[in-house]
Amino acid sequence: MNKEVTEFIKDKALINGQWLEAISGKKYPIFNPATSEQIVLVPDMGQADTRLAIEKAEQAQKLWAKQTAKQRSIILKRWAQLVETHLDTLATVLTLEQGKSLAEAKGEVTSSINYIDWFANEAMRINGDVLPPSAEGNFEFVKKRAVGVVAAITPWNFPNSMIARKVAPALAAGCSVVIKPAEDTPLSALALATLAEQAGIPAGVLNVITASSGQEVGQELCANPMVRKLSFTGSTEVGKILGRQCADTVKKLSLELGGNAPFMVFDDADLEAAVQGAIAIKFYNSGQTCICANRLLVQDGIYEAFIAKLQEALGKLRLGNGLQPDSTHGPLINEKAIQKVGSIVSKAVEQGARLVQGGSHLPEIGKQFFNFTILADVTPEMEVFKTEIFGPVAAVYRFNSEEEAIRLANSTNYGLAAYAYTEDKGRIFRLSDQMEYGMLGINTARFVSETVPFGGVKESGIGREGSVHGIDEFLEMHYVCIKN
Ligand code: ADP
Repeated sequence: MNKEVTEFIKDKALINGQWLEAISGKKYPIFNPATSEQIVLVPDMGQADTRLAIEKAEQAQKLWAKQTAKQRSIILKRWAQLVETHLDTLATVLTLEQGKSLAEAKGEVTSSINYIDWFANEAMRINGDVLPPSAEGNFEFVKKRAVGVVAAITPWNFPNSMIARKVAPALAAGCSVVIKPAEDTPLSALALATLAEQAGIPAGVLNVITASSGQEVGQELCANPMVRKLSFTGSTEVGKILGRQCADTVKKLSLELGGNAPFMVFDDADLEAAVQGAIAIKFYNSGQTCICANRLLVQDGIYEAFIAKLQEALGKLRLGNGLQPDSTHGPLINEKAIQKVGSIVSKAVEQGARLVQGGSHLPEIGKQFFNFTILADVTPEMEVFKTEIFGPVAAVYRFNSEEEAIRLANSTNYGLAAYAYTEDKGRIFRLSDQMEYGMLGINTARFVSETVPFGGVKESGIGREGSVHGIDEFLEMHYVCIKN
């Protein structure tokens, strides 16, 4: 490991500008999922540490919100510049703790820069309204104010950009933040916090709590009345728990939860583009994203050709340690994930799916590598239809008509991302009308950026991240009526 990477691997958490051990003195290990080697020990924090961070964040927030939007914007821009300067190092830290290929890691850090930069600009556009008076002589207006202290609980699949996507709008709005990164991947959050400090973000405005389990820290973040907003990305199951826990203090909530994305390929699709799209979004991050294609719905006439081409394209990918330049895809996050994906595949095969390729983990590369897998002839009656796979397994379903495809696609409690490949203009309009999803890609599978509102409907979540709407999640309206 080169010296700069070592310098960015922190073994302490950040509270009020101080790098601290846990009050209990406990620590826990972070492992490299590609090699199973321990990278570092980090503080295993609990309720007392979290409470301290919240108190400090509350004090710091008042001063931070008093700064002008331009001052906050300048500091955020400086943060973005520092992240850019250290892009390669941050990408290496990300690959070390998460496993994704260095190319994907660089892409993720680049998206963090874009989010920070975008919200640095949005800080300058927090405008209110002057209302037509509701009674003669009144002066009535609406201000937008920062909600206050924000808790951010983030997942392990995007340990860098999920921090940027929550923290940048929060800080731009004038909030302070207590981050609880995923237990497996806190190092990117700590590295970003190091640069945030260097950029001049004041002590207490950005705090990072590390913990080996989300539960205790999560309970304090949800129960503490000083926290006014929770922004969570993770599973629907945990999102529901957190939503319940936040009810007693009526916190503002943003929840980015699970997905069960349909990826529809119609007979008239550009087959090559559809296969490239499937490779890009099914196998992105080794299948571990909430917008990964989870159900590949393919029409009768193109069904076998699609599977054959998909298999051919998979032959060009390479599993391996993400730090090696020829690796296109890395390991799964932990051994639990390997077991889960393995059991999803064997269950589907037991229920009658056809295993076209893969289906097993690859201990010869490393304990946590799972082979690129295609399951064909999967049906909606099988358990996998309802399961978020979160692994490199393409489950392919056959359909006959457009109406059937839309019905199958929508028959899920989730509603995050959906994809469709077709050249029929009429169908494109029908799909954009009828698909019950927060985001729909037609003839494209990679459509997320800082400029778009990312988020889901149904049990995929509440709220949007990114775009001009993203900052609203961290603002409240404050109406003032002055009687003459
Ligand atoms: P995944 O299934 O992708 O690991 P989780 O929803 O389990 O997603 O985890 C996402 C984030 O939520 C992580 O930071 C994790 O530590 C945290 N988390 C998990 N369970 C809880 C909980 N009961 N309370 C608070 N945070 C939790």
